Amino acid sequence: MAPSAINLNGQPSSAKIDVFNNYANWINGKAHITPEKRHGVNPATLENLPDVPVSTREDVEAAVKSAREAFKSWKAVPVEERQAAVTKFAEALQEVAGDFAKLLTTEQGKPVALAQAEVAGSHIWMEAMAKITLKSEIIQETETKQTIERYTPLGVCVGIVPWNFPLQLACGKIAPALVTGNTNIIKPSPFTPYCGIKLVELAQQFFPPGVVQVLSGNDSLGPWLIEHIDVDKISFTGSIATGKRVMQSAAGTLKRITLELGGNDPAIVCEDVDIETVAPTIATLAFANSGQICIAIKRVYVQDTIYEKFRDAMFKHIKTLKLGNGLDSETSHGPVQNEMQYERVQGFIKDIESQKWIAATGGEKPINLKGYFITPTIVDGPADDSRIVVEEPFGPIVPLLSWKTESEVLARANNTRMGLGASVWTRNLERGRRIAEQIEAGSVWINSHLEVSPYAAFGGHKQSGIGSEWGLSGLKSFCNVQTLFLAK
Ligand code: NAD
Repeated sequence: MAPSAINLNGQPSSAKIDVFNNYANWINGKAHITPEKRHGVNPATLENLPDVPVSTREDVEAAVKSAREAFKSWKAVPVEERQAAVTKFAEALQEVAGDFAKLLTTEQGKPVALAQAEVAGSHIWMEAMAKITLKSEIIQETETKQTIERYTPLGVCVGIVPWNFPLQLACGKIAPALVTGNTNIIKPSPFTPYCGIKLVELAQQFFPPGVVQVLSGNDSLGPWLIEHIDVDKISFTGSIATGKRVMQSAAGTLKRITLELGGNDPAIVCEDVDIETVAPTIATLAFANSGQICIAIKRVYVQDTIYEKFRDAMFKHIKTLKLGNGLDSETSHGPVQNEMQYERVQGFIKDIESQKWIAATGGEKPINLKGYFITPTIVDGPADDSRIVVEEPFGPIVPLLSWKTESEVLARANNTRMGLGASVWTRNLERGRRIAEQIEAGSVWINSHLEVSPYAAFGGHKQSGIGSEWGLSGLKSFCNVQTLFLAK
């Protein structure tokens, strides 16, 4: 009989977890405190947050050893039981959603409504991924032979998570790794370690020791995990620059990698749109989470015949935005998450003056708060080769550009090494589809942007990534493919 890793009948009926205190590494089912500690900073108030561990090489060794040991039995657990355990874990997260949303706002800065949406997305993603089953497939069948493709787990997987969606992106790595029979170690961003640590603490109620672990640390930790010979796969989400370093570090052990990297998403607006509806929608999508979303709209191309009216409508909309502490229910936009990012975005803001661009800003900087606040800014018509058009600012600043012909705007939209997302806005769906199909990006929307689904593959073209996560193809990325040749 296959070993049963979980006793679903014996699971606690409600998730008991103190989300706001005691942040430890979770190794082999136990909390581990490290001699050295560090802490995050609340980006809205600049107050220090509680201490978190700084993992050592010994902690990495212990976690990898325990993950490898746990893999032996976890991979033999029937898939239905693994899926059931992930579903229970997702339900437990839902039970403590309010606490996680508050913690998320405190460490990340996003308005609490957006934090609630991220927590909801986190359990919805896990529940959905526990419903997708990777089936063996008969590829060829004759009287004398049968050829079957089947999927086997890779082993020990490490999930490296960025600071903009620290909870949902961790869940999007844990669930597919576990349902496919792998074990998983989560490495949260040093800027936002709190939700990831508590997520894995909660997971201990549903999985055997070593199946899900978390290591928090400084900049040394990621390379240690990637270079480790007994780690089989890295699922990385972060910047293009770090993604290249991950690929280099993984080369020594020929590790499997999935890279979900940065983007510079264009939105192409055609002249037939309803300006009063579409302009505020685009501004909302560009400035959500203060622009700190990999698939936020980062370049807005508007057809020349409606350019001025559209610009004025966008300018009008951003005046209505309310900057502040995300815990304040009136706040529509929180701070930039950390000092480094704040300084980087300030660099783009400074270009406005030096280039003599016209720009509109909205949302007053809160006078009572010391945090990393930057007022949402729209730049009117910068040059195509300016930094604000070419680079990913990852903050609340977006350029507005004018176009005349479809072929011209497509060439400009595709003139980038990034290819994460893009959108086309038009009432003419045929035209929308024609333009959309010529855009080089992993996700392309017609009359929307930012929509994602746990059932659909998500990944970047060009330097925006390698491979994809979520959906069936995401599950496959946590597996080896094995071909069985049967002679009858
Ligand atoms: P980052 O690349 O600085 O850090 C991401 C993670 O990598 C962190 O956990 C960090 O500690 C770790 N890390 C840093 N150096 C490392 C190394 N040498 N080896 C291994 N790990 C290392 O990214 P960030 O600033 O946290 O996040 C913002 C970026 O992430 C943006 O570019 C954004 O577009 C991108 N992003 C992409 C997606 C996507 O799904 N494509 C989603 C969210 C964010």
